Amino acid sequence: MSNQSKIAFIGLGNMGAPMALNLLKAGYPLTVFDLSPTALKTLADAGALAAGNAKQAIEGADIVISMLPASRHVESLYLGDDGILAHIADGALIIDCSTIAPQSAKKVAQAAAARGLAMVDAPVSGGTAGAAAGTLTFIVGGSTDDLERARPVLNAMGKNIFHAGEHGAGQTAKICNNMLLGILMAGTAEALALGVANGLDPKVLSDIMSKSSGRNWALELYNPYPGVMETAPASRGYTGGFGVDLMLKDLGLATEAALGTNSSIPLGEAVRNLYGIHSKAGAGGKDFSSILELLQKKE
Ligand code: NAD
Repeated sequence: MSNQSKIAFIGLGNMGAPMALNLLKAGYPLTVFDLSPTALKTLADAGALAAGNAKQAIEGADIVISMLPASRHVESLYLGDDGILAHIADGALIIDCSTIAPQSAKKVAQAAAARGLAMVDAPVSGGTAGAAAGTLTFIVGGSTDDLERARPVLNAMGKNIFHAGEHGAGQTAKICNNMLLGILMAGTAEALALGVANGLDPKVLSDIMSKSSGRNWALELYNPYPGVMETAPASRGYTGGFGVDLMLKDLGLATEAALGTNSSIPLGEAVRNLYGIHSKAGAGGKDFSSILELLQKKE
């Protein structure tokens, strides 16, 4: 597909906005929509066409990309009497980058197929920094042909593209990854809080563990202790990253996947409970690395 493919991008949050900006940079004609006027204005200021609603955004688009919070948002965008599926141009390709239940991804893909439209699930990994830098990892579910159609567009927003399998498989792989991420983040926060409570400097402890057997992505690239890593959400009041409630949603998807296959996920369940308690205490909108605040020794 050439750079002239017209793209509609729906959902311009912490991830969607920087991803859409990279499509503009790559030269794609872009129409965008988000329920938030502020989000819409950021993209309009950068040169995208701002639509008044989702139906308007998809008019004449060759490719429709969505980046929404959860299954219910994706299903209500595409399906039902009011859904956009009925209005998407014949021959268009749909790429849903949201992290949602594999069953939801399959349901929307089947409805798209019934209308003769191709769809792939393409959830991402790499965080807001990866979205801004255009270095995301895309984990794709769908047919090989449809992945090849999506590839040039995904390349404009990411660095690694994996084909996990059929519809929904991208979501299953993403859910496994995020369960591990939740476990790593909580474990990293727990170790840092323990070290600090026992007199260590969090930066010195982070440097030591980064070169020792405890090294991991959360510690090295997304350090949860304020002040250790200038660019991490922890150093800006836990704002603007990956929300606690989004992590809680992903851990819930892991639980559903485990129940469906009678799998044991004792660590994933423990971390889901931790994030549930943290969210109920009012931290749902903070970045997920704020789990440190739940584990930290209070003065
Ligand atoms: P976000 O809450 O920052 O953004 C979601 C956006 O969707 C908001 O701007 C909201 O206004 C918009 N929206 C909701 N319903 C809409 C609708 N019906 N029509 C138009 N716009 C609508 O979330 P995010 O952090 O950008 O995450 C988006 C998805 O990506 C989630 O599924 C999340 O799990 C996944 N994800 C996030 C990260 C991260 O680091 N933030 C990393 C990987 C994957």
